[in-house]
Amino acid sequence: MTAISKILIANRGEIALRVLRACKELGIATVAVHSTADADAMHVRLADESVCIGPPPSRDSYLNIHQIVAACEITGADAVHPGYGFLSENAKFADILDAHGITFIGPTAEHIRLMGDKITAKKTAVELGIPVVPGSDGEVLPENALKIAREIGFPVLIKATAGGGGRGMKVAKNEAELEEAVSTARSEALAAFGNDAVYMEKYLGKPRHIEVQVVGDGAGNAIHLGERDCSLQRRHQKVWEEANSPALNVEQRMKIGQICADAMKKMKYRGAGTIEFLYENGEFFFIEMNTRLQVEHPITEAITGIDLVHEQIRVASGAGLSVTQDQIVFSGHAIECRINAEDPRTFVPSPGTITHFHAPGGLGVRVDSGVYAGYKIPPYYDSLIGKLIVHGRTRVECMMRLRRVLDEFVVDGIKTTLPLFQDLVANQDIANGDYDIHWLEHYLAETSA
Ligand code: ADP
Repeated sequence: MTAISKILIANRGEIALRVLRACKELGIATVAVHSTADADAMHVRLADESVCIGPPPSRDSYLNIHQIVAACEITGADAVHPGYGFLSENAKFADILDAHGITFIGPTAEHIRLMGDKITAKKTAVELGIPVVPGSDGEVLPENALKIAREIGFPVLIKATAGGGGRGMKVAKNEAELEEAVSTARSEALAAFGNDAVYMEKYLGKPRHIEVQVVGDGAGNAIHLGERDCSLQRRHQKVWEEANSPALNVEQRMKIGQICADAMKKMKYRGAGTIEFLYENGEFFFIEMNTRLQVEHPITEAITGIDLVHEQIRVASGAGLSVTQDQIVFSGHAIECRINAEDPRTFVPSPGTITHFHAPGGLGVRVDSGVYAGYKIPPYYDSLIGKLIVHGRTRVECMMRLRRVLDEFVVDGIKTTLPLFQDLVANQDIANGDYDIHWLEHYLAETSA
């Protein structure tokens, strides 16, 4: 066992604060790192120590591995929690920390690499008994694209093996569109990821996005914590998430959960991870695995009562999981709304100073946010300023509570996406849980006309 006594949090915003809270509860000292633009951030104020690691651009600060390792050495931090985004899925970072004797709170560098390359990830999923989207065996080149597409059947989706954030993805509805789709996907992938390798999948028409939360101890023991439905997306970015999925029953939940937990046992996976699927006509199709904590993890915490960051820290230190699969009880329903500093119709970022801030409260309400009245949102980073998580005994109760809570939430001085959620919570399809991954884009197109 490697006891952890001081954790450096290599992130910013709401997730830095969320990790800090878990450390405090466990009696572990905290080090915040920040760019010059984030000197006034809440996680910096609340951490035991803080180190400025560079100027505002992420590549010079939150992505600057040397500065972060130096900050560990100066402060004596013996572990790093990477949060999500930034260096959280960077295998080189995990290797470098390892070489310095610093614990990376996450999976092994080998597992990050395995799942970071999507072609390899899909092959691994097949080997582990996880169902995948029908598609090419490996890389697709312009010269063999047509043959493969005919085998799969149109429409097909061209995806970047190094992909993320929905970039490097192109649909070809028919043969005429294929050549262009492959070449655009390849050049987008090269520009975004420095790797032009693409693969092909059957394009599913009306799937839901359903993902399974897993945690492994690295020694062959692993559990699942049920699923999250993240079908409400805009430009492949999740907007509203719920647990459990309105589309699954208990048997389906436990079956896919067990498949995922068994796969993680076989891999000897360590840490928290999410196995993402598309779900259509009762069938699950693996699309990718994220080897880190996800933005939407609090809805799983709400329905299980398990603190996922506690579990991450436990397994990183070799203390093992705090629960067995049998002890996990799924209770009620939870919904998360991502509050972005953006115009609720155009989604244009709206940085600036928050003049007034009132977070809602009451039973079943959680607000994870690092902002406060007087806080100036810097323009350099993504626009997520907070997450609203509401829990109820049933989905109906959860929706009633969400409606009340949205009316109570006040963020003045900037535009936010709160009004969008007020519309969604009043919508009949949403009330019925009747939506797929295209629903939100159609809704936005219709209601802006
Ligand atoms: P990224 O890592 O870039 O986010 P993913 O593989 O996770 O890429 O896919 C992101 C989103 O793209 C999914 O949630 C879904 O909305 C859509 N998508 C991905 N694969 C398919 C597919 N085969 N058919 C239809 N939609 C897909």
